[in-house]
Amino acid sequence: MTPEEFRRHGYKAIDWVADFLTHAERYPVLPPVKPGELTDALPAHGPEKGEPMEAIMADFERLIVPASTQWNHPGFLAYFANSATPESILGELLAAALNGNGMLWKTSPAVTELEQVTLRWLREWCGLPEEWFGLIYDTASVSSMHAIAAAREAADPESRTKGTARGLVVYTSEQAHSSIEKGAIAVGIGQDNVRKVPVDAEFRMRPEALQALVARDVAAGLRPCCVSATVGTTSTTSVDPVPAIAEICARYRMWLHVDAAYAGAAALAPEFRWAFEGCERADSMVWNPHKWLMVPMDCSVFYTSRPEVLRRAFSLIPEYLATSSDPRAVNLMDYGVPLGRRFRALKLWFVLRSYGREGLAAAIREHVRLARCFAGLVENDARFELAAPVRFSVVNFRYRGSDDDNRRILERVNAAGEVFVSSTVLGGKYTLHLAVGNFRTEERHVARAWELVTGAVQ
Ligand code: PLP
Repeated sequence: MTPEEFRRHGYKAIDWVADFLTHAERYPVLPPVKPGELTDALPAHGPEKGEPMEAIMADFERLIVPASTQWNHPGFLAYFANSATPESILGELLAAALNGNGMLWKTSPAVTELEQVTLRWLREWCGLPEEWFGLIYDTASVSSMHAIAAAREAADPESRTKGTARGLVVYTSEQAHSSIEKGAIAVGIGQDNVRKVPVDAEFRMRPEALQALVARDVAAGLRPCCVSATVGTTSTTSVDPVPAIAEICARYRMWLHVDAAYAGAAALAPEFRWAFEGCERADSMVWNPHKWLMVPMDCSVFYTSRPEVLRRAFSLIPEYLATSSDPRAVNLMDYGVPLGRRFRALKLWFVLRSYGREGLAAAIREHVRLARCFAGLVENDARFELAAPVRFSVVNFRYRGSDDDNRRILERVNAAGEVFVSSTVLGGKYTLHLAVGNFRTEERHVARAWELVTGAVQ
C-alpha cells in the first residue's frame, strides 16, 4: 500500500467509524446469526494473491459487522457493559502505527514509561498507596493469575524451581469470578485447594466463615496462602468486607488480592470510596479500565505492594534479552508470563487526558444514576422484585414468577434487538441482570429496556 493509498483508505475507515459510532443503534445489539453462518460465508482457504482494500472493506461491512455483537451500542446492557470511546479508538490506531513492544525498557521506552505514568495517575486518583507498583496485562483473569503466582512464591519460594505447590490453599467467596479458580489451576495449586467462602444475604464474603475455613485447613496441615476479596462481584457487584479479611490475612500471613475488575473505576468518584476501605492493606489489586473506564478491550491494571515477590516469581533473563541495568529502566517482562506487550497505555492515556478525573467520575456517576432509575421502575411494579442491592451500575431483578417465566421474558426482550440484557442465578433463582456502562447509554435506553421487559410479561 502506498502512503497515498493508505491516506485514502484510512480516511474512509475513519469515516466508517464516525458513522458507526453515531448510528450504532441502526444495528441489532445481538446479531441474528446462527453458529457457523459466518464461517460458511467466508472462503474456506486464504487468498493466494493479495486482494484490494475495497474488497476487504466491503466484506467487513457485508459479513463481519452483521455477525458482531454490538458492545459499543448504547442498548448493550448485559454482563458489564463497556465502551470504546472515540478518543480511545484513536489511541488504538496510533498504538498500532507505532507497533511498540514493551518487553524491555529499551525495546520501547514509551510503552514502558507511559504505562508507569498512567498507572501512577490512576493510583493517585483512586487514593491507592503511593508506593504501589503497577503494570498492565490483557485481562483481569491474567492479572489475578499473576497475583496467585506471587502468593505462591511468597508462601513457598521452592515452588518456582521444584514446580509444586502442594498443600497451598486459596480462598475466595462463592460469588467470586471463576478467574480466581482458573488462576489457582494455572499455577499448580489446583481446584481442590480453592475454598469458596460462603456469603451473607447481600452476597458479601463472611469473614467468620473465612476464619473458620483457614483454621480448619491449618489444623489439617495445609498452608493457606492467598485470599482473593472482590470489590464489585460479577453477578451482584457486592463488596466483600476487605478490612476484616485483611485482618485474617495478616494473622495467617496470607497474600491479600483484591479483584475490583469492574468496580475499580468507581474509586475515581469520592462518594464510592467506601467500597475500597481496607484495600490499602492489599498485596495486589486488579481493575479493568476496559470494563468501566471508557477504554476498549483489552486493558487490565494490576497493582502490587510487593513487586519484588512478583519479580522473583517470574524473572528469567536469557542471553538474547540481557540488557544493561539502570534503576529507572523497568523491564516489564520481569513481572509476568508475557514477554511481548503491546502499547495498551496509549489508549488509556488518551482517555485519562481527554476526560480528566472529573469527566470520568461524572460518567461513572451518570451510569449509577441510570441504574438507580431502572431499579426505581422495578421497585414500583409489584410484579417484579430486586434480587440484590444496587451498589453501582448493575441491577439484578426478576419477575415474581418461575425461572421459565423469567427466561421467556429475557428471550423476548433480547429478540427485539434494541437492548441486550443478560442473566445470572442468585439464591438458586434465575435472575435478570442489567448493567449500564456504555458512554452513549442514556435514560431513554434504560426506560426502553423497562418497556420491553414489562411488555414481555404474558
Ligand atoms: N473479575 C471480575 C469481578 C469480573 O467480573 C470479571 C469479568 O467480568 C473478571 C474478573 C474477568 O475479567 P477479564 O475478562 O478481564 O479476564
